[in-house]
Amino acid sequence: MQDNNADIKTDTKSVFVLITGRPNVGKSTLLNTLLGEKAAIVSNKPQTTRTRINGVLTEGGDQYVFIDTPGLHKPKNLLGEYMMRAAGSAYEDADLVLFVTDPASPLNQAERAALKSYSGVSKILVINKTDKADKTALLEYIARVTGEFSFDAVVPISALTGDGVDRLKKEIKNFLVPSPHFFPPDIYTDQPEKQIAAEIIREKVLRLTNEEIPHGVAVTIEEFRERKGVVAIRAEIYAEKKSHKKILIGHGGGMLKKIGTYAREDIEKLLGQTIYLDLWVKIKEDWRDKAGSLSSFGYRDNK
Ligand code: GDP
Ligand code: MG
Repeated sequence: MQDNNADIKTDTKSVFVLITGRPNVGKSTLLNTLLGEKAAIVSNKPQTTRTRINGVLTEGGDQYVFIDTPGLHKPKNLLGEYMMRAAGSAYEDADLVLFVTDPASPLNQAERAALKSYSGVSKILVINKTDKADKTALLEYIARVTGEFSFDAVVPISALTGDGVDRLKKEIKNFLVPSPHFFPPDIYTDQPEKQIAAEIIREKVLRLTNEEIPHGVAVTIEEFRERKGVVAIRAEIYAEKKSHKKILIGHGGGMLKKIGTYAREDIEKLLGQTIYLDLWVKIKEDWRDKAGSLSSFGYRDNK
């Protein structure tokens, strides 16, 4: 058999994998499970992942580059539009799309539109949250979706328990192509630590405040310095309203303290170092609709 790749002098392979699907289906959880590290933040509220996160997994000669996108949804403001641009342009760079769904609800319009637009790209249907799905309903769901769209593979998983994720990895392996590696082997994300720290703090805010604080919260890292093995981080949490600021600080500062404690634990795990975390709450009204504020919070198009 003739080897068409004979002139490519490399025994390494890589694949760019886009993880997409509607908000809350478990894309970030899946990325974390695949990487085994806290590279993307997870929340039970939709649209937590705001920027593209590249998770990188290197196993011997194989390198997997994962792009976790903000969920598919209709933009309601400038931030939403930015998120859609980030999601939209990502798939053009990908060798493979993992289309993640939750069988608890049927395909919606945004999912259908996305699947139509990915028609020329290799794609795997990843059916998540099977740990809480009814078997019969699950089979019906698979039959319905695969009857409407075609996929290179269909893999039911639970990103939470890790069930089926090994099989998914085997399927992804089929899409590796001979290529040099794009990232050094010892990194698992190309996001600066500062940005991940900010995302972790924001995750704690969303988790701990339940439904009280909407997505109108941003976190900036004002200081990130290492001194004598301790990393000193000063972060500012921006709320849209005075009432939100009050909730964020809590009675006697209790809420802010909780946010700080949980965030510090995760950031320490991430950096493997002791952290000194200093949190401040500020108000910036309607920041989601002001282009100036958006770029000062780091939501900029990389063009
Ligand atoms: P994303 O918006 O698609 O990135 O979704 P996330 O990864 O942030 O997950 C949204 C919510 O679904 C979180 O509360 C997760 O814990 C939960 N979740 C993710 N995967 C699973 C799963 O396999 N089973 C169950 N039961 N919950 C899951
Ligand atoms: Mg996410």
